[in-house]
Amino acid sequence: MGKKRVLITGAAGFLGSHLCDRFIKEGYYVIAMDNLITGDLRNIEHLFKREDFEFHHHDVSKFVHVPGKLDYILHFASPASPIDYLKIPIQTLKVGSLGIHNLLGLAKEKEARILIASTSEVYGDPNVSPQSEEYWGNVNPIGPRGVYDEAKRFQEAITMAYHTFHGLETRIVRIFNTYGPRMRLNDGRVLPAFIGQAIRGEDLTVFGDGSQTRSFCYVDDLIEGIYRLLLSDYAQPVNIGNPDEISIKEFGDEIIKLTGTSQKLVTRPLPVDDPKQRRPDITKAKEILGWEPKVSRAEGLKITYEYFKSLPKDVLEKVEHKDFTSYNK
Ligand code: UDP
Repeated sequence: MGKKRVLITGAAGFLGSHLCDRFIKEGYYVIAMDNLITGDLRNIEHLFKREDFEFHHHDVSKFVHVPGKLDYILHFASPASPIDYLKIPIQTLKVGSLGIHNLLGLAKEKEARILIASTSEVYGDPNVSPQSEEYWGNVNPIGPRGVYDEAKRFQEAITMAYHTFHGLETRIVRIFNTYGPRMRLNDGRVLPAFIGQAIRGEDLTVFGDGSQTRSFCYVDDLIEGIYRLLLSDYAQPVNIGNPDEISIKEFGDEIIKLTGTSQKLVTRPLPVDDPKQRRPDITKAKEILGWEPKVSRAEGLKITYEYFKSLPKDVLEKVEHKDFTSYNK
């Protein structure tokens, strides 16, 4: 029997590239797909020479053709940071609607199991904390985040419809804030923003008063949770994230300590619809997958800082500051 074959979309992105590594390590044949709008081939170039890996430069919003059998599909293609949604709102909506429709059709055709990357953004600016899978969310459909939040909500809806109507094997992971090596330095997310600013000797920009909270999960923990969910028999959505909640201001202080920078925190206006709090309830992941995060923020941040420091100087300095100003309105 040959190797099991898995299609990973968004394979050149932060999470997609870590998934490629994990599935290669587990002995799968990996078919990687990315249109490279936000992905970066440098994240997967170490795999190009392998015989159990192939790469397709393709936009999944267009018809997806993959020759041969497929056992699993992991749909991770999507812009995934607030700055990206502002820059490429239509592509964000298309990959979460046309893209998922193509991949569900492919999964049906190939009789493959499909796992889709959903997000804590389905909870919007939540009125309950922590957020459990039963919470339906508080989302503004027409705000700047709406293109992402509603695409991901639609993605869950159509995935469940294929599951109930066609009997397709589907899995839905709701991913909370995740960090680690291969995050894009200029995607505007708080961790690369703070670490990049510290390395360049700039002040760290806290949006609003910094009292909003997030709960950061190290990437290896997240990948382990996704792997377990794919191999489970559970078709309802599952939160994967680290419940260790921290305010953005405290997080900034941690980064100042970690990097030893002599810069300070400065405030900028809070972006529209920025969620005030976010913390996953991971009871389901614990019970159904026997999963919980293992890497502390102190450990994870150290590894991530080393990664950013190791990047070439031109990458470290190539940050589009103008993006930040258009975002904070
Ligand atoms: N944030 C910040 N400074 C930055 C970038 C982000 O204070 O330079 C804040 C942002 O307003 C939000 C939090 O950090 O409250 C997390 O933002 P991120 O974009 O990383 O993720 P998301 O809002 O999608 O959780």
